[in-house]
Amino acid sequence: MKRQEFLARYGAVYEHSQWVAERAYDGGIGNGADVAPVFRRIVDRAGHDAQLTLLRAHPDLAGRLGTALTAHSTAEQEGAGLNACSPEEFAEFSSLNETYKERFGFPFIIAVKGLDRPTILKRFRQRVEGTPEEEFGTALNEVHKIAGLRLAALAAGPEVPREPVDLGEVLRLAERALTNAGADAANAAAVAQNIAAAERDGSESHGLFRLPGYCNGLRKGEVNGKAVPSVVSAAGASVVVDGDGGAAPVAYAVALPALAQKAEELGVAALALRNTVHFAAMWPEVEWLCERGLAAFAATANYPYLAPFGGTRPFFGTNPIAFAYPTGSTPVVFDFATSAMARGDIMLAGRDGRQVGEAVGIDRYGEPTSDPAAILDGAQLPFGAHKGSAIALMVELLAAGLIGDVFSDENAIRADPTGLPLGGVFILAISPRALGGAEAIARSAAWVERLAAEPGVRVPGQRRHKKRAAGGPAMVERALLEKVRALADEA
Ligand code: NDP
Repeated sequence: MKRQEFLARYGAVYEHSQWVAERAYDGGIGNGADVAPVFRRIVDRAGHDAQLTLLRAHPDLAGRLGTALTAHSTAEQEGAGLNACSPEEFAEFSSLNETYKERFGFPFIIAVKGLDRPTILKRFRQRVEGTPEEEFGTALNEVHKIAGLRLAALAAGPEVPREPVDLGEVLRLAERALTNAGADAANAAAVAQNIAAAERDGSESHGLFRLPGYCNGLRKGEVNGKAVPSVVSAAGASVVVDGDGGAAPVAYAVALPALAQKAEELGVAALALRNTVHFAAMWPEVEWLCERGLAAFAATANYPYLAPFGGTRPFFGTNPIAFAYPTGSTPVVFDFATSAMARGDIMLAGRDGRQVGEAVGIDRYGEPTSDPAAILDGAQLPFGAHKGSAIALMVELLAAGLIGDVFSDENAIRADPTGLPLGGVFILAISPRALGGAEAIARSAAWVERLAAEPGVRVPGQRRHKKRAAGGPAMVERALLEKVRALADEA
């Protein structure tokens, strides 16, 4: 990025203090680097006088006296409703402000995002009582917080125009599009339901966003749209299902009930789902088992997108793992790729003109980059360095080696290496009752409640379930919706 562009983007992140961005740029900040810690270091090392000048450059909350507001500040203050004070509130702000400035020599600064007026006033009353040393540190910290929020807003990129779409309509559009692409009724319904569930729960990267890919895969013959999955064997605690080259949600109609029945009978059972295309989120399968009182673990390998730790060439898949545990109410469910970022999210970032973090991937020459297109052309990186890499390795061995299906690197030798990956899914289902006795679920549920009560902690799965309970339509990106409608309208 040229100096002028850099300053236009970041110059106002610290209010009326472009010198912070100037020093960062002139100090040789790398293209795509995480600027927040660099900016912070510059301010923290600038010395007391420069910091005081920076604090004094901030606008005055009460009445915005004396200092012009940047566009950032106007939006933030209006967002907190500070432009709609009652006369009493305004009088209190003004009076606190006079006292505060007299005591400390700079205006009251607070990161207002997420705070309402009464909370801001309460903090103001508390902080005006602080010692000058304490308040100097607190104000500087708030300045950094404001900068962090502004940087996050810049990284989020421009708003993408969206339209509300009723979930019934999502299902209908998906079913029609899949049918037009060659799927029979059962195959189209299973995939469409999976897509609609993702939209319902706010899993955008596996909702309608995946539909054009599925349709393309059906047309090219990469997914069998007339798949008739079948149980190949069910010896002991194992269930082996052949997906007949169809999409995984289709095979689950056969595979999951067979697996659940075994796990209920034997306490534990494992599924080898072979010859299937897994192009979806993984939580639906573990959650389905969980709704039947079973704990579950699922993993699938896909296509060589991920460079193993230490390597520079794609070799592992993005290899998601999912885990679910029943609690009698909202289940605990986590489900994520072993890559630092799911491929679908990198694609969404590219679509929306956003950069991604540096640890997400490398370009085709093995160089770190935050450009989504360069990463998609190069390699993704595992999360958590060698630890995520080891989990991706485990997934290859479970979902390919152990169940007798293809490894991700073997998918690379298909005729069209950009096509949908054909492979296997490994699922383990365990009955807590069988292993831990009648109390195994209730005790765990009480423990999850204690966990959820920890300040700042949320239990995985809660966000989706909250979104589900809130109901409401899917908010679909307009350009995608047009594409989906065209696919559904094709004769
Ligand atoms: P994320 O990094 O977004 O992590 C999602 C998981 O972490 C969810 O279970 C989520 O719970 C939980 N979580 C997120 N934030 C918090 C938090 N603050 N506290 C507690 N829990 C949290 O996932 P990915 O981007 O890696 O993966 C997205 C999807 O992509 C997954 O569904 C995955 O299966 C899918 N995928 C599929 C592939 C395939 O081959 N089919 C390949 C790769 C990925 P919650 O749901 O409540 O937000």
